[in-house]
Amino acid sequence: MMNILETLDSRITLNDEERMLLHSVRQMARERIAPRAEHVDRTAEFPWENVKAINALGLNAMFVPEPYGGAPMSYTAYLACAREISQACAATGIIWATNYHGMKPLIDWGTEEQKLRLLPRIAEGGLGALAITEPGAGSDATGMRTSFREAGDEIVINGGKTFITNGDVADLYLLFGKWEGIAGAKESISVLVLEKGTPGLSVVRLEDKMGTRASSTATLAFDGCRVPRANLLGNPGDGLKILFASLNKSRPSVAAHALGIARGAFEDSIAYINERKQSGRKILEFQGIQFMVADLASELALVESWLWQVASWVDAGADDFGIEASLLKLRATDLAMRVTTDAVQLLGGYGYCKDFRVERLMRDAKITQIWEGTNQVHRQLIGRSFLRR
Ligand SMILES: Cc1cc2nc3c(=O)[nH]c(=O)nc-3n(C[C@H](O)[C@H](O)[C@H](O)COP(=O)(O)OP(=O)(O)OC[C@H]3O[C@@H](n4cnc5c(N)ncnc54)[C@H](O)[C@@H]3O)c2cc1C
Repeated sequence: MMNILETLDSRITLNDEERMLLHSVRQMARERIAPRAEHVDRTAEFPWENVKAINALGLNAMFVPEPYGGAPMSYTAYLACAREISQACAATGIIWATNYHGMKPLIDWGTEEQKLRLLPRIAEGGLGALAITEPGAGSDATGMRTSFREAGDEIVINGGKTFITNGDVADLYLLFGKWEGIAGAKESISVLVLEKGTPGLSVVRLEDKMGTRASSTATLAFDGCRVPRANLLGNPGDGLKILFASLNKSRPSVAAHALGIARGAFEDSIAYINERKQSGRKILEFQGIQFMVADLASELALVESWLWQVASWVDAGADDFGIEASLLKLRATDLAMRVTTDAVQLLGGYGYCKDFRVERLMRDAKITQIWEGTNQVHRQLIGRSFLRR
């Protein structure tokens, strides 16, 4: 018999082709990605084998339009795959999702020429990166200092970025900076595509992190990098508009990542407390534990439902869903931290040790409250939306 969360999964709106793909992704994630998750967490090795397994299923193609080498599916299907891969290995989940986060703005805002030239590389399995954060510009991206200077048919880039997921391995970077000659911290923000191997682009440092350890997080330097003017997205100064529109679509993706981690922790703890006995009874037979499980299951059911709700609005063509996406990112990531922390508690002393993966999941969950807008920033965005002007 299915439990309530499995029943909800069976009701996700997918067509037959998407359901079959999700089935293959689940099988690949459980058989090939999950068994390597402990090793890549311990060693922090970039999981190239997992990237190969993802590309063997052609998964990047699901978010690239057909004329550029893709085989597009719904946003709901993309989120379901992101959740599945993240449940098997949170680091691999974020590596794949970052391809989407970085390249979706190119799909939405790029010219035909840019898309024909750049997107087939991604559709074939190339890696993308989204480069916004700088040492002095975290929650407030308008403080960024990376500069774009026009030089004939080229743009010259100087500056640097920090904490860039896939930063050392990406084929294409969606890079934000400020256009020299435009005044104003917001007005000057512009965005372009930087290609791997561009002279002057270097990796200065890789972070040694608490969780998602196999996903690389790079500090990048740009020392007079020259890119063709043809790689600029939109016009000079369009950056902030493009940034906000793209974050609306990457935030549900980050929520799906967090909910994958949460589901992994929930399922592991349910399996454990059905087996483990104390005082002659299964741990799940104690009422105090049933109350904990009920709280976690109801939160999961509600937040997952909101994920599919937001996804259905996106699939129906909505483009103004910033607060809906903020609510989702906030609740899904707080929930991932809560479920993983409670999962460690439910496994007792064994939960605290590395033999069980809930220990890793708790470390993996923490970042979800920090990136794609910290949860303080999301609370502020949501609260501010009620201000009467
Ligand atoms: C593993 C990892 C991967 C990442 N990947 C990427 C990536 O691919 N691309 C990219 O561009 N960036 C990436 N980031 C950066 C990430 O998005 C930032 O770390 C995040 O935006 C927060 O910025 P900060 O770290 O500078 O913190 P700060 O902005 O300095 O915040 C410090 C604290 O102050 C709080 N705070 C800040 N402003 C406010 C406010 N107005 N009100 C209330 N509280 C506030 C924050 O919530 C936080 O608790 C990544 C970071 C990590 C750690």
